[in-house]
Amino acid sequence: MSAPTLASRPVAGPRLDVDHAALAANTRLFAERTPGALMAVVKADGFGHGAATVARAALAHGASWLGVTSIDEALALRAEGIRVPVLSWLNPVDADFVSAVGSGVDLAVPSLAHLEAVTRAGIGARVHLHLDTGMARDGASPQEWPALCRAARRAERSGVLRVVGVMGHLGCADVPDDPANAAGRLVFEWGVATARAAGLRPQLRHLAATSATLTDAASLHTMSRVGAGLVGIDPSGTTALAPALTLSAPVVACRRVPRGTEVGYGHTWRAPHDTTLALLPLGYADGLPRVTSGRAEVWLAGRRRRVVGRISMDQVVVDLDGDAVAPGERAVVFGPGRGGEPTVAEWAGWADTIEHEIVTGIGARVRRS
Ligand SMILES: *Cc1c(COP(=O)(O)O)cnc(C)c1O
Repeated sequence: MSAPTLASRPVAGPRLDVDHAALAANTRLFAERTPGALMAVVKADGFGHGAATVARAALAHGASWLGVTSIDEALALRAEGIRVPVLSWLNPVDADFVSAVGSGVDLAVPSLAHLEAVTRAGIGARVHLHLDTGMARDGASPQEWPALCRAARRAERSGVLRVVGVMGHLGCADVPDDPANAAGRLVFEWGVATARAAGLRPQLRHLAATSATLTDAASLHTMSRVGAGLVGIDPSGTTALAPALTLSAPVVACRRVPRGTEVGYGHTWRAPHDTTLALLPLGYADGLPRVTSGRAEVWLAGRRRRVVGRISMDQVVVDLDGDAVAPGERAVVFGPGRGGEPTVAEWAGWADTIEHEIVTGIGARVRRS
């Protein structure tokens, strides 16, 4: 066995590149499909693409709102100098509502307890009442909804907050003809009518996310909240969107090994013949799911190469089938797929998960371009 050839000069490490033109094209497509306003959902660091990066691209190409989960995410957008309306929809009752409202962040209110907390803050919040339209997850149940609407109207009359919106969310919109979609739409329409009967006048009524915006015109009210679609992920599988993310890593070392060489933890792979192996400096801590060991591929030196042995925390080994590769040459872990490289969708398939989990799972030490 020969000694490994080591990189002789510093090389850039693993890197994530975002294609701004792809974000722009996707945003324009959704802006065209949305008769009302388009809210760009940039939670979880913009689905791993950078919250401010996605926000700026979306705002430049047709979005007029931003949506995030937590108040902290909303305040981070404000700290970037972004001034457009922002909605934060999932917070514990003791969250920092004062800072949110002080920074002009709208708040979703999913329960009487949240309404009381926001009311007690006495800060003139702009509120979107959140109705559970069939997921038993976030949002008030239909049983609680009439009381929530009445209490919100009382708070509004006393001047401590304003109800500007009503929101819901569909659990099965990726399957366009699932009967749960029609049921969810009906619950939402009932919820809006109930709010109006309580004296509320919510201008913003939003139910659709990516899939419903692409497949279900009946669910489009006055705004759509679109996240995955902006970064090129279509859970409904109906529309060609542009993937925006490329993950690459340099070869650290390349070694020639004889047949029978065992690779990695647990020796789960044994070279079936003499071959060459390349080492890449990223692993499951950087977002490569360990469960894809033995299935995953990367693009390196002109073709697909198998990841062999177990994926480690910080490194993976790639079988080069006897080819030699210079240290520093870059492997493409995933990209749009145009050059033959694996896509995020393929990684999701190897990991038996959805693309969302792959793009939001890239670790903090991967450098963002
Ligand atoms: C994540 C999320 C969205 C965006 O959904 P996509 O399918 O990614 O467009 C919209 N609304 C809520 C409440 C969400 O949690």
